[in-house]
Amino acid sequence: MRSIPYGRQSISEEDVQAVVEVLRSDFLTQGPAVPAFERAIGDRCGGVHAVAANSATSALHLACLALGVGPGDLVWTVPTTFVASANCARYCGADVDFVDVDPRTYDLSVPSLALKLEQARARGRLPKVVVPVHLAGQPCELAPIRELSLRYGFKVLEDASHAIGATYRGEPVGSCRWSDVTVFSFHPVKIVTTGEGGVATTRDPDLARRMARLRSHGITREAAELTHPGEGPWYYEQLDLGFNYRMTDLQAALGRSQLSRLDAFVARRAGLARSYDAALAGLPLTTPWQHPDGRSAWHLYVVRLHDASRRRGLFEALRADGIGVNLHYLPVHRQPYWERLGFAAGDFPEAERYAAEAISLPMYPALSDDDQAYVVERLRAHLGAGVGR
Ligand SMILES: *Cc1c(COP(=O)(O)O)cnc(C)c1O
Repeated sequence: MRSIPYGRQSISEEDVQAVVEVLRSDFLTQGPAVPAFERAIGDRCGGVHAVAANSATSALHLACLALGVGPGDLVWTVPTTFVASANCARYCGADVDFVDVDPRTYDLSVPSLALKLEQARARGRLPKVVVPVHLAGQPCELAPIRELSLRYGFKVLEDASHAIGATYRGEPVGSCRWSDVTVFSFHPVKIVTTGEGGVATTRDPDLARRMARLRSHGITREAAELTHPGEGPWYYEQLDLGFNYRMTDLQAALGRSQLSRLDAFVARRAGLARSYDAALAGLPLTTPWQHPDGRSAWHLYVVRLHDASRRRGLFEALRADGIGVNLHYLPVHRQPYWERLGFAAGDFPEAERYAAEAISLPMYPALSDDDQAYVVERLRAHLGAGVGR
């Protein structure tokens, strides 16, 4: 039987060689590969600063800290995301609330954000940071979000874990043209991988410096940052309570090698998306609608069943066929941890409707045309046979 996951990495012989070279070199960590990878990401995003970390979760935490998030602050994100988009603010002791998603893009709804901001101002408690998430690789409406951020005085932290290689109004996601910090993930199911890893990009050199320092225990050796006079070449200072969130050189070398194939990865994903769009037309489901301002990186291909009651049957039938369908995501506010903080069913109806109807179909560059045809054929067969009814 076939076994087709929903996503997986594509590792080339060049990737293997890049890692082996580091293994034979002097530095497995804190060597030249991490800064080289950071420069490659920064260049790719239009000349911004890039700070590598051991995961996107760590990078989100560093970004929140660098943006000054702390106890008593408020951070907003969307419920339709991986839990890490919200957890990063909790690590800093901040309160979190959610903004419902758009019914067509499943990204942050700009009208919902505008309304919630108006209400928040009336109550006297505005968010310090808003974390829009480029779900499935489709960019959020960054320009109107930026307008609101300037009007209401909050920072924008893009969770672009799904979206390296995507563009918005012709600019690469990660350029931070409409935001303060952008975070990418390099987990193996994402567009580009380092095994585990993440990068934060920013145009602000101070934010970049703060994130880099917090990534490594809050320690600095930079003369300009020292509190006391330097005593000699051995001298360093811990200025803040930082962490060990460093990426290794092994990971960075893999990432840099992978990054050279980013355009090919995204092109193959977009081609698979077009094939799905055509092959699934006429079925009782909604294929992914694309906002004209964005070009998705196609991390995921999510369909929504018109009849949510058939989802479970269809899901189980496809899994029995060896097709690794998945759900991205159960709404964060319905997780027990978040329910204990006071959230409940019904709080964010669009995110909940989406989660009841959605199925992620297999989507990754190495997915063959033949395997994709099999996925489509099984989906059509089950829907035609009334599976789940
Ligand atoms: C994968 C993911 C993360 C976390 O990434 P890690 O690199 O695994 O820490 C955060 N947010 C979103 C939306 C993700 O999909």
